[in-house]
Amino acid sequence: MDELNTELRVLQSHLDNLIDCVRQNDIKLHRFQTLEMTMLSLNSLRELIEQTLQDTRQVFELDHVSLALVDDKKELRKFLEEDGLPPDQLAELVLLESASALEKSFGRLMRPYLGPFRREHCGSLFKRLPTHPDASFALLPLYRRGRLLGSLNLASENPARFGVSMATDFLDRLSAVLSVCLENTLNFELLRRTSLIDPLTGVNNRRFFDQRIGEEINRVLRGGSCLACLFLDIDHFKRINDTFGHQTGDLVLGEVARGIRSLLRNNDVLARYGGEEFIALLEVSSEDKAMEVAERIRLHVERADLTSRDGRRIPVHLSIGVATMEPSQWAGDEKTYAAKLIDLADRALYLAKGRGRNRVVSAGLLRPEPRKTAAGTR
Ligand code: GH3
Ligand code: MG
Ligand code: MG
Repeated sequence: MDELNTELRVLQSHLDNLIDCVRQNDIKLHRFQTLEMTMLSLNSLRELIEQTLQDTRQVFELDHVSLALVDDKKELRKFLEEDGLPPDQLAELVLLESASALEKSFGRLMRPYLGPFRREHCGSLFKRLPTHPDASFALLPLYRRGRLLGSLNLASENPARFGVSMATDFLDRLSAVLSVCLENTLNFELLRRTSLIDPLTGVNNRRFFDQRIGEEINRVLRGGSCLACLFLDIDHFKRINDTFGHQTGDLVLGEVARGIRSLLRNNDVLARYGGEEFIALLEVSSEDKAMEVAERIRLHVERADLTSRDGRRIPVHLSIGVATMEPSQWAGDEKTYAAKLIDLADRALYLAKGRGRNRVVSAGLLRPEPRKTAAGTR
């Protein structure tokens, strides 16, 4: 009877262990599914990188996680810098100049690699290295349509954590899901940017400008600093085309756009409004300041040393119309003010053309109407 009891107790203990194991796996699966769902719901590269690093570390309870992304065109660096996450500030992100660095160490891996952490192979994938001499390592390749996008790299101070012969079901799935998310996000980021950029001049296009002007006006209406709108038009551009050819005309457009951009601040908006017309939005302290910047741009373009392929100097001049909006109490919506501001700058541009071109004219200040208060309406 005693023997039977002992056997029962052993069986019970095995059963408890099994139940415990199932429960643990259930928790792991649940956490893993949450990680996948989060990844699938993210909208930007910045979010995907930050969330993946943070969640993977938590879900897998790891000491070291890093994401290596192939950035052969230096696009990712630019995207992240524009989105306020300079890659060098993120210790767990490594941008690779090409896929060959990864492929040299690990071959064309289509499945996760598990094994010891070898500094000569894995060292370049982490900015912070594990300290244990026998640390273990897992590399999840991120492949889509035969292209290696990068790798998710996991390292543990525990030598037994990632063994060569371990099952990799979870890691396989994570690798596949992250690859799809990354490809989608990269395509989206590229589209978002190219659809808002004018391909000829590299500055933003009208669509971007129309989106931003409302935000900028709202900022002024909330009591920010003045907003200046500059309408810039190249003088007698038709003559430049007729004299030097349209291809040279295209180059001139690009040079003028670069010249204007170089005199604006990062936060200022510059867009190609149409053919040889540009429009800019600047945060300024006063109307005088806006005129000063416009005059600087005009002079910069006038003095630019542009020459045609056959060595002839190409004289380029700009006429600029300026309208400035003052922050104050307001009535009306941002769309109305946007239309008014652009219209004023446009009219000032026509005055500049009428007064002989190659000059800056201000239309003065646009003062929002005072909001009608209870006292004011009495
Ligand atoms: P104004 O001083 O009155 O502005 O004279 P303008 O010749 O600059 O103005 P107009 O509107 O008469 O001509 C604009 C020219 O710009 C005509 C058009 O062929 C040219 N243009 C528009 N878009 C492009 C472009 O993408 N590339 C080139 N090369 N020319 C362009
Ligand atoms: Mg013109
Ligand atoms: Mg024009």
